[in-house]
Amino acid sequence: MRQMLDKLAAQESRRTLGDDALAERAARLSTAYLDGRARPDQVRWVTNQNSRWGSCTPSERTIRLSHRLQGMPEYVLDYVLLHELAHLLVPDHGSRFWALLEAYPRTERARGYLEGVAGAARLPHVPGARSAGAPEAPAEPGEVCG
Ligand SMILES: [Zn+2]
Repeated sequence: MRQMLDKLAAQESRRTLGDDALAERAARLSTAYLDGRARPDQVRWVTNQNSRWGSCTPSERTIRLSHRLQGMPEYVLDYVLLHELAHLLVPDHGSRFWALLEAYPRTERARGYLEGVAGAARLPHVPGARSAGAPEAPAEPGEVCG
């Protein structure tokens, strides 16, 4: 029985980083690529965020990542995390923002990966099957946040 519980615990920890580990990862990324200047108060997973991979509220210094990133390659997760960290320093997506991400060597690759995932996710939807509500503006593929 004990063996089984240990095995379950190991599986659990392999499956995903907890919020604490996520915060630790954010701190490491900030140190490595942003001179440690981005210091979020809170970094956590959310399950109710389906149109964006991540979001940042600079005024509250909080970062939320979509649970859909769980299980994706680490360089993709790191890119989204770094992207949101950079928003603590530059809230928009202007040239100053992208300059901050230049230090991360896999920005383009991660963006390509996310575009692929977003594209594949749209495939099963039949054109014209949209609900009658507000027209759904398709998000820019691979856009991390709004
Ligand atoms: Zn963004």
